[in-house]
Amino acid sequence: MYNIIDFTTKLPVKPNGLVFAGENNPWEILMDLAVIKAKLNLEYFKTTPPCLLKYLPLMPIQKISEFVSLREVATPLVKSKTLGERLGLNLYFKIESKNPTGSFKDRGSAIDISVAKELGAKAIILASTGNMAASCACYAAAAKMPCYVLVPEGVPVAKLAQVIAFGGHIIQVKGTYNDAAELAKTIAEKKGFYLAGDYAYRVEGQKTAAFEIIDQLLFQAPDMVVIPIGCGTNITAYAKGFEEYRELGLLNTMPQLMGVQAQNAAAVVNSYNERKNTITPLESADTIASAIAVPNPIDGIKALHAIYSTKGSAVSVSDEEILQAQYLLSHEESLFVEGSAAATVAALIKTPQLTGLRNKTVICVLTGDGLKDSSIVLKAAIKPPTIYPDEKEFLQLYQSNFFNGKNMIFSDKSKILFQEKPSIVQIKEQLNKLLNAEYDDDYLLKIQSILYKILQKGKHITISDFQDSIQDALEKPRHPLHEIFSVYDFSVTAEKDRSSNATVKIKIGDTKKEAHGTGVGPVDAVINALRQACDEQINFKLTDYKVDIRHQGVDAVVYVELKLTKNNFSSLGRGTSPDIIQASIEAFEVAYNGFSS
Ligand SMILES: *Cc1c(COP(=O)(O)O)cnc(C)c1O
Repeated sequence: MYNIIDFTTKLPVKPNGLVFAGENNPWEILMDLAVIKAKLNLEYFKTTPPCLLKYLPLMPIQKISEFVSLREVATPLVKSKTLGERLGLNLYFKIESKNPTGSFKDRGSAIDISVAKELGAKAIILASTGNMAASCACYAAAAKMPCYVLVPEGVPVAKLAQVIAFGGHIIQVKGTYNDAAELAKTIAEKKGFYLAGDYAYRVEGQKTAAFEIIDQLLFQAPDMVVIPIGCGTNITAYAKGFEEYRELGLLNTMPQLMGVQAQNAAAVVNSYNERKNTITPLESADTIASAIAVPNPIDGIKALHAIYSTKGSAVSVSDEEILQAQYLLSHEESLFVEGSAAATVAALIKTPQLTGLRNKTVICVLTGDGLKDSSIVLKAAIKPPTIYPDEKEFLQLYQSNFFNGKNMIFSDKSKILFQEKPSIVQIKEQLNKLLNAEYDDDYLLKIQSILYKILQKGKHITISDFQDSIQDALEKPRHPLHEIFSVYDFSVTAEKDRSSNATVKIKIGDTKKEAHGTGVGPVDAVINALRQACDEQINFKLTDYKVDIRHQGVDAVVYVELKLTKNNFSSLGRGTSPDIIQASIEAFEVAYNGFSS
């Protein structure tokens, strides 16, 4: 029914145990389409509604009764509401985030795990950038098979959580995706596990997305399909799916495939630009679109073949363009997708030769769900403001122009905005440029005073610092409370392997006071000193303490949030400073003063 061959030499290959992967070249599964065609009733097949199980006769599955299925349905193919018209295209989105675990990987995992089960594997192992891990762990759970997952450190937490929830055994590897993939292969060979991942069998499941598109378009071929490239397996699967449908007589013309990579992870695009058939691996792959952060695409040469053989193209996009496209998709099309998926839309927006495609049917494959990595949105966003449950507070925000501007900044966060104290006019200009926002003067003054404090610490103001300061200003209660409590100075000593000591000088009303505290570290010591200082006035309890470093670098601005509780009433305070102790003190002041409002 099928053969496994080397993709380059086209010669049959022999697997090593349950490892279906070549040393240097990728392998490929060659379906015997003549036999399949003879068995299929094509007229009946054409009119059967699409879903994964419909395509079982076209997949390398021997025992249909053992197929591991979660009763997948066809993912929606929806027409663009606004973007298509603006680009002059008949644009559709294939919403692959609607698969069982939130990405297209499920199509391949159904095959991977079914083959592993047919072959009697005792366990499966794989490397992943996150989505494949979540997907394989889910299907392995359905097959009641242990699943070992190797991921590079720093995989988005939602994907880790999925693996853990499905009972997968997850291990983080210090290195890139490719380092994890090498290790998975070695262990599979040594332990006799089935090696799941971007290898020949997976393509056979993922090609069903191409079948589905043709079925959904009632057997009209689209002109172009835009697909993000990580390992290159998925674009390969689309090319193979369309080609098989053509050979079966279900498709007349092959759609062009456009592959999209992130600028700093563009190994395939680099080769395409030089019209090469080989891949030069990159040292690293640095992009916010973690699902396509692959320095050495395992199926890179197959991806190139998919592009060349369909007269397609390959395009790279920057992180900024990806974020903008992601925002556009959610705002205008009501589709919240992963950065890697939004890259397809970013590519269309920046491709000038689209004129040749005027009014043609183009499909962007939206590979994964936005909830998979919400941190990239939160990092670009101004966090929501906080108010007391009071109508007046809402109205103040409402009338302050706060909701008029944007709430996300897409520019390079490390760019320096101010080297020295900015004037109110300069702050106004930047707010307008970055957020289209026109805040009231008292906000501008607050932002200015926060920026001054950061500059006083000897730090330049970057875009990310500016963002934090805006947020901080928005989160401090709008009307300065009659500040009964303030800290006017502090000092701390911290030594290695010893407890820390802190002294704080505070003012409560008109009374000045000095208090001391010890703690396991400088922050703890300062908080203890502060509690000491207030204790006589009021009894309260520190219930929550959160720290967030939102951008990179040891001089990054730190964002501290803490909650004080007194007689069942809690008050939240937040502080922002490049100095974690100062940020904690500011948070404490705000929270404490919250009680007296
Ligand atoms: C895996 C993945 C990709 C990349 O697909 P490849 O088959 O590795 O090229 C793109 N987007 C998402 C959301 C993914 O999970």
